[in-house]
Amino acid sequence: MTPATLQREFDVIVIGAGAVGENVADRVVQGGLTAVLVEAELVGGECSYWACMPSKALLRPGTALHGAQAVPGAAEAVTLTLDAAAVLKRRDYFTANWQDDSQVKWLEDTGIELLRGHCWITAPHTVEVAGLDGNTYELKARHAVVLATGSTPTTPSINGLADLQVWGTREATSAKEVPERLAVIGGGVAGSELAQAFARLGSDVTLVARSGLLGTFPAEASKLVVAGLRADGVAVRLNTSTESVRENDDGTFTLTLQDPTADGRTTVIADKVLVSTGRHPALEGLGLESLGFEAQHGQPLKLTTDSTGLVQGLPDVPGTPNVQGEEGSDGVDPWLYAVGDAAGSNFFTHQGKYEARATGDAIAARAKGELRGTPKPWSRYAHTANQHAVPSVVFTDPELAAVGRTVEQAKRDGYNVSSVELPIEVSGSSLHSEHYEGWAQLVVDEDRRVLLGATFAGPDVGELLHAATIAVVGEVPLERLWHAVPSFPTVSEVWLRLLEKYGL
Ligand SMILES: Cc1cc2nc3c(=O)[nH]c(=O)nc-3n(C[C@H](O)[C@H](O)[C@H](O)COP(=O)(O)OP(=O)(O)OC[C@H]3O[C@@H](n4cnc5c(N)ncnc54)[C@H](O)[C@@H]3O)c2cc1C
Repeated sequence: MTPATLQREFDVIVIGAGAVGENVADRVVQGGLTAVLVEAELVGGECSYWACMPSKALLRPGTALHGAQAVPGAAEAVTLTLDAAAVLKRRDYFTANWQDDSQVKWLEDTGIELLRGHCWITAPHTVEVAGLDGNTYELKARHAVVLATGSTPTTPSINGLADLQVWGTREATSAKEVPERLAVIGGGVAGSELAQAFARLGSDVTLVARSGLLGTFPAEASKLVVAGLRADGVAVRLNTSTESVRENDDGTFTLTLQDPTADGRTTVIADKVLVSTGRHPALEGLGLESLGFEAQHGQPLKLTTDSTGLVQGLPDVPGTPNVQGEEGSDGVDPWLYAVGDAAGSNFFTHQGKYEARATGDAIAARAKGELRGTPKPWSRYAHTANQHAVPSVVFTDPELAAVGRTVEQAKRDGYNVSSVELPIEVSGSSLHSEHYEGWAQLVVDEDRRVLLGATFAGPDVGELLHAATIAVVGEVPLERLWHAVPSFPTVSEVWLRLLEKYGL
């Protein structure tokens, strides 16, 4: 039988059923519109199966064990190391064994239609889908098409690498066995987290970072993570480039490193190589060229969006009335949006879902004529927090947690900045564990005396972060923050010490 081309019409087409696409579709349906989600792989996307969930499932048992070992009384009761098979089994549970049935059920319950297949845009409001059922679908969107296609790993240019079967984060997070020797190329969040996870599972890990580890965080904070990794036996090679990787006859890999401390070249032999050197928006093959978008200077394509996720600079397509831009003027039709990793401003599930909620609501409001033009900052339709209040946690042990601007970013943005920093040494931290080592920093806008950012480093500091996020988003004056009394004895007492040191 010849496959059919089936034509369907929806209010909104969302391309990509990761966490972000799911949330956009949910919000537009809650707003009274119809939505179809088109997904080529698993509903739930990267976060559920190959990123946040499995990586945190691999890390948590090691953190729990180390936490107990750091508290006398509990330490004596812990006599064994991690059970790697049990850790991998628990990871399998958190990825639902890479089956998306429960997420599909949620879509059904929510009233979102799912179409499995690979798709691309053929014209404004129009998407073609090569369905996994063998059919071709031509979908029309009455109101909007949303790109929620996620991101793709960026491959570094290292001699020999392109020809080899090495691990990316997908292979590492779904590994069925713990390699004896693992070389990790990349000192970002995923590289650091997975290096520690595998070291604690028993691998002999070498981590190679071209510059510092976790370089977007203040050096005082990231150096605690370097110490944590080294304490777990990870050979952390900073300011070291990987010149080449080759596969040996016995299936192992040899990395040649340009190592400043060793005065030249050194080699590392590993059973597996994990390459984790960043990601870029997954926009290839989506038909964006047919709308006039082109990648520049050999770089991956990047879109610019407004505060509602509306794609900017969409060229006028001859023969169509669909000109993207400010709504409310004649001939203008806001139809193409990008959110989450695909939009390229933040690569976090929580921030992508925040964008998704605002974009979904904006699409529904525009469809009903309740939103015209660009919404005000901090309206429910705007991604305002993306500009200066993005929280992030690195789930290594110790953890790193930061929100808002660092001192350097605040200066670059023209603020009259001061900062206050302290080791975390309060009753709560000394009770938390023996030899608790932590560091905290507040970044202050001196003109308004409000927080622009905060960073915490130390065991379990991820849970301190939301207080800082609220203070930054709420622009709480320091004089009022002084009245937010941390409970005794908690690690949060560091807030009091920081404000005291600031001069309150
Ligand atoms: C190892 C690792 C750990 C991470 N840990 C965290 C963490 O702890 N916390 C956190 O906040 N973030 C974390 N992240 C980042 C997080 O995973 C991403 O920010 C998040 O998954 C982005 O969600 P998304 O919905 O935008 O994209 P994705 O989850 O990638 O979903 C995009 C979907 O679109 C589909 N798709 C793409 N193109 C097409 C097409 N043409 N047709 C049909 N379908 C298509 C894909 O198959 C995919 O399912 C981590 C990332 C990695 C790599």
